[in-house]
Amino acid sequence: MTDGQPRDIDCREALDRLYEYIDEELTPVRAAEVRLHLEECAPCLAVSKFEDAYVRFIEARTRVQSAPDALKKRILQELLFETGEHQAP
Ligand SMILES: [Zn+2]
Repeated sequence: MTDGQPRDIDCREALDRLYEYIDEELTPVRAAEVRLHLEECAPCLAVSKFEDAYVRFIEARTRVQSAPDALKKRILQELLFETGEHQAP
């Protein structure tokens, strides 16, 4: 996990970091990488908007505990599956 210049990341990596990105737990460079990817990748941007809303929804409902990662991952996968045009290079 090195920090240097922001580099291009692929969809998988961007989505892997999405929760941390939303929670603002990434280092500035890693957050910048996600942001850069979202700027040029409409499907991931759509997912991030959904995730953002989802995370806030969950946080509002369960102030104490966050949703299990497995559940979040599954919802994410289903989203990706529905956006058929979303394919890794
Ligand atoms: Zn993407």
